[in-house]
Amino acid sequence: MPKYRRILLKFSGEALMGKVSYGIDPEMAQQIAQELQELNSMGIEIGLVIGGGNIFRGAGLAAAGMDRVTADHMGMLATVMNALALQDALERFNVFCRVMSAIRINEVCEDYIRRRAIRHLEKGRLVIFAAGTGNPFFTTDTAASLRAIEIGAELLIKATKVDGIYSADPLINPNAQFFPKLNYDQVIEHKLAVMDATAIIMCRDHSLPLRIFDMYKAGALTRIIKGEDVGTLVA
Ligand code: UDP
Repeated sequence: MPKYRRILLKFSGEALMGKVSYGIDPEMAQQIAQELQELNSMGIEIGLVIGGGNIFRGAGLAAAGMDRVTADHMGMLATVMNALALQDALERFNVFCRVMSAIRINEVCEDYIRRRAIRHLEKGRLVIFAAGTGNPFFTTDTAASLRAIEIGAELLIKATKVDGIYSADPLINPNAQFFPKLNYDQVIEHKLAVMDATAIIMCRDHSLPLRIFDMYKAGALTRIIKGEDVGTLVA
């Protein structure tokens, strides 16, 4: 029996890069879609937030001299492209899916309307929340915590390249300590690089548990949904 009925899953844009150095690796999109199809077929209601860092990040463009707000608009549009790629991959696995954008772009996808999003979920459709929060100076991590709270998700799951939260980057420092469980304030206080502070504070203030896991571990998502202790829990 699954432990959770409705979840919000956050993937960074880089998750879609797979073997390519920029943009979207269709093989990676298929791989993610296949895992999601399994959860969907278990009857889990899935909301998805996808980043845009594989295409554009506002801060990076601004550092190169671009106006920050324009740069963030480009970043948000990048997340729409990723959302469309994932929608396409999911549909090839016969998962009913809707992209809902925080920026109006009606020829391409639906607008984000909370009640409609919840209705889609209730009907078993996977909802991809695109364009972040719709506002510059925010991140898709914050969009993930915001949407999770709005739709009443029981768990926010963030897919990363490492299998949880460590005291330092384990890919650089082999002596980094692994934390199976932390509270929100520990993450904020020790500036543990897991999600930006705004996102963590939103989770804390609304008692939304957060789990960090390694997206490259096959079957990890399903184990999380069944209630197994995979990765790090922040609660
Ligand atoms: N962005 C934004 N507002 C939001 C979410 C995202 O302006 O609410 C922009 C911002 O420029 C960001 C880019 O979209 O750099 C891509 O999102 P993010 O960096 O969070 O993607 P990820 O690192 O998860 O791939």
